[in-house]
Amino acid sequence: METKGSIRKKLLPIVIFPVILLSCLITVTGVTLFYGFYIQSVRNELVSTTDTLLDCLNFTISGDYYYENEMLLKGDLNITDSTMLLRIKEQSQIDITFFWGDLRIMTTIEDEYGISAVGTKASADVAQIVLNQGERYFSQNLAINDRDYVGYYVPLQNSDGTIVGMIFAGKQKDLVYKKITEVIIWFATFSIITIIISIVITLKFSSRMIADVNNINNFLKAISEGNLRTALGNSIVKRNDEIGSIGIYALKMRDNLQKLIERDALTELYNRRSCHSMLSAISQKNELYCIVMCDIDFFKKVNDTYGHDAGDYVLQQVSDLIKKSVSEYGFASRWGGEEFLLVYKLGYEDTVARTQQLRQSILEHDFTYEKTKMDITMTFGVADGAEFIRYENVIKKADEKLYVGKNNGRNQVVA
Ligand code: GH3
Ligand code: MG
Ligand code: MG
Repeated sequence: METKGSIRKKLLPIVIFPVILLSCLITVTGVTLFYGFYIQSVRNELVSTTDTLLDCLNFTISGDYYYENEMLLKGDLNITDSTMLLRIKEQSQIDITFFWGDLRIMTTIEDEYGISAVGTKASADVAQIVLNQGERYFSQNLAINDRDYVGYYVPLQNSDGTIVGMIFAGKQKDLVYKKITEVIIWFATFSIITIIISIVITLKFSSRMIADVNNINNFLKAISEGNLRTALGNSIVKRNDEIGSIGIYALKMRDNLQKLIERDALTELYNRRSCHSMLSAISQKNELYCIVMCDIDFFKKVNDTYGHDAGDYVLQQVSDLIKKSVSEYGFASRWGGEEFLLVYKLGYEDTVARTQQLRQSILEHDFTYEKTKMDITMTFGVADGAEFIRYENVIKKADEKLYVGKNNGRNQVVA
């Protein structure tokens, strides 16, 4: 079964969506906060500009304000001079306007064709608040000469307190927006970099995990197809997480299935079927080997005298002695009821010697079942693998020798 989805595809959105959401949140909050701070700082700048201008006029020139012949006078001095206002604009990009009443009589504001806004009037709202109510006025949304401004108005007062005009200081909103746009770009870049870093980290850290999951997937697939000789990478079992645990259980499952299929349940020796396939592999490799066929003597009598359970006990005990004898030299199988086929990957002489030792160890073994001691012996037939090309013929030869031993009085090795 091929999997359509992949863990990586599912993992990415889980990581990316929160990052995108968080980035948007940080951007919106950051820009809003910055906008607030920036407008506040513009306001402070405008306030200090108008106050400085007022202080300059009030402390350096005495007398009241007059407006005569399109000239603004303080005391007897004509103060209708835009040079200083233009210099302020050059340095701080702040536009300044002097009003006589609501009439612009001196200003740095020009329209798109460069024509000065002198002669135009302030809006009725501004005139009402500043001229009539005598209050200072700040606004982020002023439209002056078809341009949007953030601006600040202060009343211009004579010594008796009468309000004769206003001073305006303002910044074009385009300049404010330019600054805000810079900040948005900065935040957006930061967000994109964060998203890219998250993707890279997710891919890097998930790749090992995904590789291990895929290994387990392939391992289980091979088992499901009947390949019980398949292996699982060591790195998975070493993991101390759920994936490692799945790996360990998958290995146990393979081993138990292998046992179930390849081994005899009572003795845990190989069964006849797996013995055939192992012998076939050995004979194809031209390896050195000998086959020993052996059978418990008068086993029917054991069953008849002591019962079937005692018979099973003898089979298990004999199997343990056989396992010890073949150990690292080969393998053993339960060929039939009380008959065993042993394979020694040894030369003929060595095999015969080990078989003699096995016969002796069975003869001397204490077979006591439920306080009843039984005398058990076995008869053996040994055949050299080198004698025949086909292993089936080697088995046949060993079997023939076993029966020679049976007929010759049992408890012997026929070589
Ligand atoms: P021989 O020396 O000629 O081999 O005589 P034998 O009695 O051992 O041979 P026979 O073939 O007459 O008897 C084998 C007996 O083994 C018969 C059967 O009941 C018994 N047997 C086979 N498998 C098992 C088993 O799994 N458990 C038990 N308890 N007995 C078994
Ligand atoms: Mg027998
Ligand atoms: Mg038999």
